[in-house]
Amino acid sequence: MTEEQEVKQAPTSIIGKILLLGDAEVGKTCLLTRYTDDSFSTEYKTTIGIDFRIKRMFLSNQVEMKLQVWDTAGQERFRNISKAYVRGASAICLVYDVTKSSTFKNLHNHLSPETENPEVVKFIVGNKCEKDEERQVTFDEGKAFADEKGYEFREVSAASDTGVDNLFISVAKAIYRQKNPGSSLGWTGSASKFFRK
Ligand code: GDP
Ligand code: MG
Repeated sequence: MTEEQEVKQAPTSIIGKILLLGDAEVGKTCLLTRYTDDSFSTEYKTTIGIDFRIKRMFLSNQVEMKLQVWDTAGQERFRNISKAYVRGASAICLVYDVTKSSTFKNLHNHLSPETENPEVVKFIVGNKCEKDEERQVTFDEGKAFADEKGYEFREVSAASDTGVDNLFISVAKAIYRQKNPGSSLGWTGSASKFFRK
């Protein structure tokens, strides 16, 4: 099949629900803000209520991807992530802090029957990678754990803006591939825009 034929068969707009999961203070809210606002704050704020942002991304063929990125809104402090939060997830990013090994060891606590579903795209994300001298989890340890689980692995830094855009572009591509098996459509990753719910 030529790419042109494939384009005609592709859906025009895909919604991908991406969940950010992980212990409190690993940097989930900062990653969301970095990706959607391109800003970073050192001030710690516990998010109140369920929060998500939408960012649009276009494929080279004008097929649109709407990424809904959900932030855990402080619920992770009480191990009380609501069902509404995880329901219908297309992808999960299990985030830990590379300078705090307990957050890495706790990753399994953030999986649930809904997110363990093989149709849900899974990424392990080590944040704060710019603090290399304070590292407690090496890149290889993170990668080995992800490989063992069959998940994707990325190290990022919301503070220094390292790998954040690439992470979400990779998640978007993985969601697209999950929903359109066998597709080889290209991506521009451009023309993205966000707006509040
Ligand atoms: P959340 O509880 O997982 O949502 O974590 P936050 O996004 O609120 O961040 C918790 C703390 O980690 C804040 O003080 C942030 O400034 C800090 N932080 C987040 N991302 C990074 C990063 O990439 N590097 C560093 N050094 N600090 C970060
Ligand atoms: Mg938060």
